[in-house]
Amino acid sequence: MALLDHYQQQLDQLKQTGNLRQFTANEQQGAYIKIAGRNMLNLSSNDYLGLAANVQLREEFLDQQPIQRSYFSSSSSRLLTGNYAEYEQFESSLSQVFLGRAALLFNSGYHMNIGILPALSDSKTLILADKLVHASMIDGIRLSSAKYIRYRHNDLQHLTQLLEKYHDDTDIERVIVVTESIFSMDGDETNLTKLVQIKQRFNKVMLYVDEAHAIGVRGEQGLGCAEQYNVIKDIDFLVGTLGKACASVGGYLICDPIIRSYLINTMRPLIFSTALPPMNIAWSDFIFKKVMAANTERLHLHKISKYLQSEIVAKGYSSPSTSHIVPIMIGESQKAVEKSHSVQQQGFYAMPVRPPTVPQHSARLRVSLTSLIQPDDLQRLVACL
Ligand SMILES: *Cc1c(COP(=O)(O)O)cnc(C)c1O
Repeated sequence: MALLDHYQQQLDQLKQTGNLRQFTANEQQGAYIKIAGRNMLNLSSNDYLGLAANVQLREEFLDQQPIQRSYFSSSSSRLLTGNYAEYEQFESSLSQVFLGRAALLFNSGYHMNIGILPALSDSKTLILADKLVHASMIDGIRLSSAKYIRYRHNDLQHLTQLLEKYHDDTDIERVIVVTESIFSMDGDETNLTKLVQIKQRFNKVMLYVDEAHAIGVRGEQGLGCAEQYNVIKDIDFLVGTLGKACASVGGYLICDPIIRSYLINTMRPLIFSTALPPMNIAWSDFIFKKVMAANTERLHLHKISKYLQSEIVAKGYSSPSTSHIVPIMIGESQKAVEKSHSVQQQGFYAMPVRPPTVPQHSARLRVSLTSLIQPDDLQRLVACL
């Protein structure tokens, strides 16, 4: 089949360069993951608070969940018949904890980012995005009719220079600055206090901050870096996913009620896709309360993160991390792959991250910690690096 040959050749090429991606079957239990018969400590999980792994929580939820309300499909977009009471309930819970701002739910963080940015933008919009924002935001920007420029990673001085240059152009009516709070590949974080100060200098600026890796993990109540730095009300579009520390599925936006109504009228992935099952939303509402109360887990995660960061540096590696995502910088791809194989053989499941996901010569072993991990686990990991 000549038509299939084209695709097969591309696959062959990926394989030759060591970049072929495949699903791997796995079994998970607590902090451990079993792949091809080998049981390893899971150092690649997004279940940062260990809540997805917690069987008692599932039991507690299912015991209180009436079968009459356990819908496994909403059968429709929320604008037709899919707007079950569970949606209104969870959005109202979110709104309450996020200081009375409006809340809107999406089917995933990916839907959220590819949907909101195009809906908010037109040709008089300029988007300034951090160089390392997640693919979902890049795709959202590509789907939009905004002009866009990327600023150097975490370089707010560069962002300021771009604002000084373009902010007063007459054909620009609004500037949306797009960033993450904690970054998924470097594990470093944006200075939100400084970002808000920059916004206050430029009257056309609105801030779009993705807290995918910070929700549940940061802040007194786990509401993210925005809570930690007391800027919840200063971020125009505060977004995050429920699929990581929150042990569920879906995305959320905290915003002004005007924006919420506007998106309900304009955001295509919200309008044209069947809403998540009410059962999932009921679980999200249930688990979000547990997330907020998980101070012990947050504190433990913070402690082991600091521990690993300093142990890695003591061992002579560099790492930009200031969070629970701790990349161990290796350099060349091949070496990162070898390092990953070697730690896996010793019982640690950490994956190599290579270009083009990260810049040339910055291949790394990416460790993401969860509160199920203990300091002596990390001591053993560092010993075998
Ligand atoms: C994981 C992630 C997403 C995607 O969220 P999903 O709910 O998994 O679709 C979006 N943004 C960032 C920064 C992420 O890390």
